[in-house]
Amino acid sequence: MAADNKDKLKTLADWIREYQSVVVFTGAGISTESGIPDFRSPGGIWDRFDPSELSYPNFISNQRSRKKYWEFYRENWKDSAGAKPNRTHFAIAALERKGKVSAVITQNIDGLHQAAGSAPQKVFELHGTMWEVRCLSCNHLYPWKDIYNLLEEEEYVHNCGNCGGLLKPATVSFGQSLPAKTLEGAQRFSTNCELFLCIGSSLVVYPAAQLPELAKNSGAKLVIINRESTPLDRAADLVILGEAGDIMSGVLELLGWSI
Ligand code: NAD
Repeated sequence: MAADNKDKLKTLADWIREYQSVVVFTGAGISTESGIPDFRSPGGIWDRFDPSELSYPNFISNQRSRKKYWEFYRENWKDSAGAKPNRTHFAIAALERKGKVSAVITQNIDGLHQAAGSAPQKVFELHGTMWEVRCLSCNHLYPWKDIYNLLEEEEYVHNCGNCGGLLKPATVSFGQSLPAKTLEGAQRFSTNCELFLCIGSSLVVYPAAQLPELAKNSGAKLVIINRESTPLDRAADLVILGEAGDIMSGVLELLGWSI
């Protein structure tokens, strides 16, 4: 690790020691080490699918886009089904065990924070979860595996058995609103924290990317950990470029806390 990054890790460790209320904000970059591709890196999901075709208005309005969407989900489930939490998820859960973390706000839909031991009531899944399928009319939930099996057998998803409505993974697509209560909770914790730690997000997807700005404008220290620069780096108190797993395990080591 570069000497410059060593000093930065020490600064972050000092701040974590000093502050009692840390909000951790995560994106797809924290799960790449678990084998789940992100959207924007080379080889990521947008290299294989056209995001504009997978929007919510398209899903609602035409059968062809729905078919494409289910193809995308079939791959997504296949890529993610066996994934296990990695060092970064475990480091965040370890910070929580030390009483530091007030909330984990995630753009991820993979459930790996909870799998690593983060308390489910502290995890705000801004973009929903891929492990359930919801009826868009009556909100009935189906386990993902039932729908996945249908896709494998028939390459076709029937409408809701309860009401005949359209089924869709319980995730938020482009053009679809974020779940209001989840967003409100995330905004409340962002406004009230002392340290806001962004890990593995390109910080270009809104409204999620408003939260770091909200925290900073409310007086929190803003820290960004990512492989590449983000549009919010200029507003941050500390930017650490590199692999999330190396950085978070390095910080935990400096704190003397095991993962
Ligand atoms: P993104 O793909 O836009 O950005 C991920 C960022 O993480 C990139 O800047 C990349 O350089 C960085 N990165 C990748 N691997 C890293 C690593 N090991 N260490 C440090 N940085 C790393 O993802 P986003 O910002 O989360 O937003 C896009 C959308 O992607 C979200 O809406 C989210 O719902 C969805 N998504 C989620 C998953 C998941 O649940 N695992 C996977 C793909 C996409």
